[in-house]
Parts: sequence; C-alpha cells; structure tokens
Amino acid sequence: MLPIYDCVVIGGGILGHCVAMQLLEKYPDFKVLLLEKEAQSGLHQTGRNSGVIHAGVYYTPGSLKARFCYEGNKATKAFCLENGIKYEECGKLLVASNALEMQRMQELLERTKENGLERVCLDAKELKELEPNITGLGGIFFPTSAIVSYKEVTLAMARRFKEKGGEVIYNAEVVVITEHARGVQLCTKNAVYEANYLISCAGLFGDRIVKMLGLKPGFSICPFRGEYFKLSPKHHQIVKHLIYPIPDPSMPFLGVHLTRMIDGSVTVGPNAVLALKREGYCKTDISLQDLKEMLAHKGVRKVIAKYFKPGLAEFKNSLCKKSYLRLVQKYCPSLQLEDLSPHPAGVRAQAVSESGELIEDFLFCNSARSVNVCNAPSPAATSAIPIGQHILEQLEGVMGG
Ligand SMILES: Cc1cc2nc3c(=O)[nH]c(=O)nc-3n(C[C@H](O)[C@H](O)[C@H](O)COP(=O)(O)OP(=O)(O)OC[C@H]3O[C@@H](n4cnc5c(N)ncnc54)[C@H](O)[C@@H]3O)c2cc1C
Repeated sequence: MLPIYDCVVIGGGILGHCVAMQLLEKYPDFKVLLLEKEAQSGLHQTGRNSGVIHAGVYYTPGSLKARFCYEGNKATKAFCLENGIKYEECGKLLVASNALEMQRMQELLERTKENGLERVCLDAKELKELEPNITGLGGIFFPTSAIVSYKEVTLAMARRFKEKGGEVIYNAEVVVITEHARGVQLCTKNAVYEANYLISCAGLFGDRIVKMLGLKPGFSICPFRGEYFKLSPKHHQIVKHLIYPIPDPSMPFLGVHLTRMIDGSVTVGPNAVLALKREGYCKTDISLQDLKEMLAHKGVRKVIAKYFKPGLAEFKNSLCKKSYLRLVQKYCPSLQLEDLSPHPAGVRAQAVSESGELIEDFLFCNSARSVNVCNAPSPAATSAIPIGQHILEQLEGVMGG
C-alpha cells in the first residue's frame, strides 16, 4: 500500500519551499512531500536573479503584485532577521536621463503614492550628491528596497520545512499526474506518489503541470533570458544604492540596472531576450520541443509580432557588448567595456495569454484537488511569503469544496 500524503508540492524554488513550510506551520499533523526535479533546491529562477527585495514601485494599484510586493518586502526582512540571514537595506534610485523619462517619472510618483510607498524626489544636484558616479536630470529614491540571497532564504525555508517533518525528494521530475475523486496520483520516472491535494510551483514548467492535470491552461509560459555582466572588483564601490532607469511603460521589463549584490559585487543587467529553451541559460541553447510549443501558441506568436522591433534590439544588445554597455552608460558614463565580465544568466517564466498579452499580475488556477501557480515572475521572490499565504487560502477553499 502506497503512503498517502496530505499534500504534495511540486517545485523546490522559493515558492514551493515557502508554501510547504507555511503548510506545516498551519497544519503540523499533515504529511507533506516536496518533489524537485533537480539535485538541489533553488537552481532555476530562485538562484539566478538580481537578489532585490523590491519595494513595489511599478505595479498597478490594487493588483496582487502591488499588494504582495509591499507586504513581502516587510515579511522577507522579518524572515531574514528571524533566521539569521544577511540582508542590506541599501535603497533604490530610479534615474531619469531625458525629458521623456522626467515625464514618466511624474507618472511613477503618482502610482507609488497610490501604492503607499515611502519615496523621495530628487533634482539633478541632489542625485549627484547621493550618487557621484550617476548622471541624470532627476530621480526618485525608495529607501525600503534591499538586497539578499534568495537561495539562502529558500534553504532556510527548506530547513524549517524539514524540521517540522516535511519530506523533500530530489531528482524527482513529475511526468504524469492523474487527478481522481479522492486525490492526485503523481508519477516520476522512478516512483508513484498518492496525495489528497497538490500544490504546484513549477516556475518555467507551470503550464505543463496544469496540462498534466487535464486542465486547459489558457496561457503558455514564454521564457525570457536575463543576461548579466558583473563589474570588476575595483568598481564594487561605484554606487551605494541600486540604480535603475525609469522604465518604458510600454515594455514589460525594468531595463538594465546596476545591482549591488549581497556578496559585495555589482551586476549590470538583466536584459530580456526571448529564450529558445525554457532553461536556456546560454545564447546557443535551443530546444526544438520548447520552440515548437511556443510557436504553436497563438498568444506567443502575437507577442513576438507585437514586440518584434524591441525584441530585435534586445538580441542586438545581447550579441554586442558595446550596445549593452551603452544602456548603462546612459546613467553611469564612466563604465567602459573592460569593466564588464560575464555573469550567469537567469530565465524568467512569463505567462502569455491566448490573446497575446504578457500577463502582468500573479496568476493561479485551481482544480478540485490542486492549486497551481501559473504566473509568478518578478517580484515573486520578494512576495513569496504573501504568495504562500494566498496559496494556502486557495487550498483551504479547495479542501472545503
Ligand atoms: C533574471 C531574473 C531576475 C529576477 N530578479 C528578481 C529580483 O530581484 N527580485 C524578485 O523579487 N524577483 C526577481 N526575479 C523573479 C524571481 O526570481 C522568481 O519570481 C521566483 O524565483 C519564482 O520562484 P519559483 O519557485 O516560482 O520558481 P523557480 O525558482 O523557477 O522554481 C521552480 C522549480 O520547480 C522545479 N520543477 C519544474 N517542473 C518540475 C517537475 N515537473 N517536477 C519537479 N520539479 C519541477 C524546477 O526545477 C524549479 O526548481 C527574477 C527572475 C529572473 C529570472
């Protein structure tokens, strides 16, 4: 007779570990199993990001992103304090480099007011005083933005989950799921597991899990690679804060930024290049299966058509270091080509709707026995704790139903 788990969680990134930990904190008698396809936790988005505890600058007021990021900023810092994890509240500076960006900056000021964020508006002189190596016409300073290692946060969550009796199995890729009246059966290549309920937090494979459950996802995961450089050690003091450009509201990502990392280094990036493989961390990585699936999706084809020109520019910046450098020289003119050395890339799991929209907000879908994370791009690492609480509420709805 197979053991029956109360709940199986798919995915050993920050979301899977966070919700697994919270589940056992709330229901200490539950038997919970986490399945991860890799040999360790946090090898994908969670371990390959900018490490920023975002304040919640950009998100539409009233959206889940705006709410969870605001709450997650506080909750992540509290979790770090509780678990002896180092973080640094270095603050973030958004820099406007031309008249159009000054105008966009005013719009952002309004939005951040609605989102209840602490912020300080700076003119060119104040900007220079705060960051002597940064040039701009003006800026906004957000004091609550911070930096951390999300891998470390995830490992602490994994530890707490295991201390409460949770079980983690690595090298366990879920390949088949059968939902039936009493629960869910999950098959990996080596084993079969039975559970009353399932939570999936599979990142770049979120849509495939939903399909395995027999649901029609209504979205497809589109992978966008974010390529970084790191600055040579002599430039580790070049900035005191996180430096971001004012984003173009018609573009989905934030623009190349200068990020102080918790290990003392500084990265430049990430850009956003359509990846030809879901876990395609190198420019040459291609998966025919992933590519075929992407092109078969009407929404993805529409996204490619809609962002064709900016997409080509991203490819150019990806292939030509000089063009990439220009993006950062806009606000940090002293940086030169020889200051940039390679740094590992990450791949964002961005859900695209059937109608060709890059889905902005966090998205979840439920079946009679499961809760599934469908869209959790940035700032989902910052927001992991409130996202976990939201998933538990959804699960309670499913259990009650
Ligand atoms: C370049 C980049 C920069 C970012 N910067 C920031 C930032 O500064 N701040 C911020 O808040 N957020 C940031 N993000 C977003 C953040 O990293 C992600 O939103 C977050 O890590 C998502 O966590 P996750 O657990 O959903 O996904 P993941 O970390 O990708 O974890 C999913 C896990 O599921 C496993 N899995 C998938 N399919 C299966 C299967 N069938 N069976 C078993 N296991 C499976 C995978 O192996 C993986 O370990 C960034 C992301 C990227 C890519």
